[in-house]
Amino acid sequence: MDREHTIVAPATPTGEGGVGIVRLSGEAAEGLLKKIFRPTADIGSLESHRLYHGFVQESEGSVVDEVMAVLMRKPRSYTREDVAEIHCHGGPVVMRRILDLLVEGGARIARPGEFTLRAFLNGRIDLAQAEAVVELIRARSEAASHVALGQMEGRLSRAIHGFRERTADFLAEVEAHIDFPEEDIQPAGFDRLEKGARHLQDEMDRLLATFESGRVLREGLAVLILGRPNVGKSSLMNVLLGEARAIVTDIPGTTRDTLEESLVLHGLPLRLVDTAGVRSTTDPVEAEGVRRARDKVASADLVLLVVDGSRQVGDEDRLALQACRDAQVLLVVNKGDLPQVPLPEAFLDLPRVTVSVRSGEGIAKLEETVAGRFGGDGGTEGRETTLLSDRRHREALLRASQCLGVFRAGLTGNSSPEFLALDLHETLDALGEITGETAPDEILERIFTRFCIGK
Ligand code: GDP
Repeated sequence: MDREHTIVAPATPTGEGGVGIVRLSGEAAEGLLKKIFRPTADIGSLESHRLYHGFVQESEGSVVDEVMAVLMRKPRSYTREDVAEIHCHGGPVVMRRILDLLVEGGARIARPGEFTLRAFLNGRIDLAQAEAVVELIRARSEAASHVALGQMEGRLSRAIHGFRERTADFLAEVEAHIDFPEEDIQPAGFDRLEKGARHLQDEMDRLLATFESGRVLREGLAVLILGRPNVGKSSLMNVLLGEARAIVTDIPGTTRDTLEESLVLHGLPLRLVDTAGVRSTTDPVEAEGVRRARDKVASADLVLLVVDGSRQVGDEDRLALQACRDAQVLLVVNKGDLPQVPLPEAFLDLPRVTVSVRSGEGIAKLEETVAGRFGGDGGTEGRETTLLSDRRHREALLRASQCLGVFRAGLTGNSSPEFLALDLHETLDALGEITGETAPDEILERIFTRFCIGK
């Protein structure tokens, strides 16, 4: 990984904007800045972390733009290298010209994520923190940004470092027995090690158990709206979204395909999916819709099973109920504004909310019930507790916990210290993958290419 070159990239999105920022990082950042930037006041040398007004000029003296520029000397910068930023007018031509001047001066255009990669390689942040930067940029809800922010501030990293230190202590103890084999491990020492490892494994498992809520806060809860045609699914979706997205009609079966929309409910991000009505049909387009609905049930966190409370429950409703047999279901009895007919036994067992999409009655209750069930309360959870929200982290931590389990079994089964040490090394490696100490290059590559350019 090349760290010699000074890299440059636009730090703001391309297109027109009030301000565009060109960012430089590396040994030559200061020299390059001085080469093209002429401050308004005669100031001698540039002070670090100070914004200067001036002009970007071509070598022969013609002005490219009026700008503000700042130099951030290492190590107090995003990358821990010298970083310079030029705040120019945010037009593509001006930005392009400034970039060209810097490249002509010897800088190289940065690859996506390369600034953050340098921050990682220079030890300012670890891998989990670097990943959180992407998540923060991509966050589409407050809850998701809280999870990312907690991780970026190092909450998860501290937990993982703690796990690593304790594992390293066990390893030191075990290795002492490899070095001095004549001193048999005393049963008391074994007990202590086993107890320590058990505590550690319990803590790892507790962190693993936060994955579901972490994932939901980050990715959003997948909520499926299911029911036979004409019960009011599209209308419900519209009300929840607060705007008319889905097409509402009186002809059964008009919502042919699935529609997906995102919204935030009491701080909880949701991905709301409206399916084609479940019905037994010979229409091939509908049949496909039904099949897809069944598939979607399997991947939903929650199914809102909608029935029309003013009509007798029919075969199609029962079909819908069947489709969500293994799912978490909330029964939504719609059209509460009309005279109601009683529900059959099979439906009465489900948790239920009665609403009228038309009058708005019961909608707030429905929203509370959904959010309450998944702990949505402004998304403060991600801010205050350490949450695991990334699949990569989960896999690595799971492996660490399993290796520690093997180590414990080895202790009770009188394995040789060499084997015990091996299990602990594997535990350390798995933990190190999360924070980056032992992450192979291809993992780094995969992670940093997810960044946008200029970050
Ligand atoms: P879908 O096929 O399940 O998506 O149902 P739609 O949302 O298209 O609604 C079908 C019909 O039921 C439309 O004419 C809606 O106006 C009507 N509808 C929806 N919700 C209510 C309600 O709460 N009360 C009454 N009276 N009619 C409703």
